[in-house]
Amino acid sequence: MTKALLILLSLLTASAAVAQQRIVTPVDPLTMGTDDFARLADPALWDGLTVTRIEFRDDRAFWRLYRIDNARKPDGPLWFVPHDNENAAFQAAIYAVRAYGGQVIAVEEARSVDGPDSRMNGDVAFGKPIDPNRNFRDESPAYASEILAGLGQPPRLIVALHTNEPGYDAASSTCGPPPPAYTGKGEISVLLCSDLYMPRRSFYGDWPFDDTDSVAIVSYPGSGGPGDGFCVHGLADADMNIMLERVMTSDGSLSNFALFHRLPYVNLETQDRGVTPQGLGDARSRLLAMIGTVMDRCAPIDGLSLRPPRLAEPIRPTRRKRR
Ligand SMILES: [Zn+2]
Repeated sequence: MTKALLILLSLLTASAAVAQQRIVTPVDPLTMGTDDFARLADPALWDGLTVTRIEFRDDRAFWRLYRIDNARKPDGPLWFVPHDNENAAFQAAIYAVRAYGGQVIAVEEARSVDGPDSRMNGDVAFGKPIDPNRNFRDESPAYASEILAGLGQPPRLIVALHTNEPGYDAASSTCGPPPPAYTGKGEISVLLCSDLYMPRRSFYGDWPFDDTDSVAIVSYPGSGGPGDGFCVHGLADADMNIMLERVMTSDGSLSNFALFHRLPYVNLETQDRGVTPQGLGDARSRLLAMIGTVMDRCAPIDGLSLRPPRLAEPIRPTRRKRR
């Protein structure tokens, strides 16, 4: 055996050991110093919930997740909060897992335990920070496997929760002109039309859909039609704001991953309203109102498994540029 080969082998062994590193720690949510937990340090809220921190390396990144299980009602959705700076989404997930059962998976942006939160995970050995919702890739499956470890069979409903910058950039929309004095800067709005998104706006605009940024995003395969999106008929019947996302190739988001793996999935978005108690409460209430509708219209009935979206033909994920 050559010296070079020996060095290569030892390097491979070392990287395999790093890849397998996984630390699981039970956590007391009432003594956690991180902002998400500190804001919710109410014993009544956490009664019956167990919290576990999961840390692992995958490829070039170090990841830290929190898993929160409803011990009394383990059946229920997977509530996914990928972006650590979307604080109302974390709160809505905790309230939702209490009310409806299931499991929360929330990504803690690994380098800012004490500092301001970021959307991106900057704890990487090399290269750019990673968006936790663009990292669901079949060619590096460890991350997706860890997030979805509790999915079960048949898979539970996945509800992803987000907050976003207000409004949208009218210049990137193919819909008509924006409302007068509209000054959005985000990318998520039921006013946005593009090659990717087709909006279905709430007819009556009742709260929380008096706000164009409170929307469900439902993906459907490019080989099919919008009606193939999971639960789209139920959500439209409930007069929700819906952005119908046409997916040709996966962008690494969980919504696209779920579509290609035929997992039941709904994504809920609302405008970020800051971290004052009022702002968090307003955004959280809008998310919870949408969650209520999703549970009403899309959640499985006991004894019946969910039907994944009907697909016109087999589809294969391929890489796509970021949108
Ligand atoms: Zn987000």
